[in-house]
Amino acid sequence: MARLNPINIGGVMVSNATLHNFDEIKKKDIRINDSVWVKRAGDVIPYISEVDKSKREKNYKEFKIPNKCPCGKFQIIKLNNETVQRCNGGSKCPINMLSL
Ligand SMILES: [Zn+2]
Repeated sequence: MARLNPINIGGVMVSNATLHNFDEIKKKDIRINDSVWVKRAGDVIPYISEVDKSKREKNYKEFKIPNKCPCGKFQIIKLNNETVQRCNGGSKCPINMLSL
């Protein structure tokens, strides 16, 4: 999720937007503190359609994919045929990212 400065879109205050996965963040080149265009349709979670790069400052950092799971016991891995990162602890992970 992207945490946004709350903005009213079509009568609804929006403060979160889905980022889908790290590939999407990379593809759209979304960085921390970026100004973004957010789209919202019906009940679908709002998403970032585009980054306004004219408002980007030099010091805006790219997202880093964590290499440790928040459970603290296992590593974050990405299988070649999948688009999302997972804890390599599988069912032994107390957070069990598979269910998120
Ligand atoms: Zn874990």
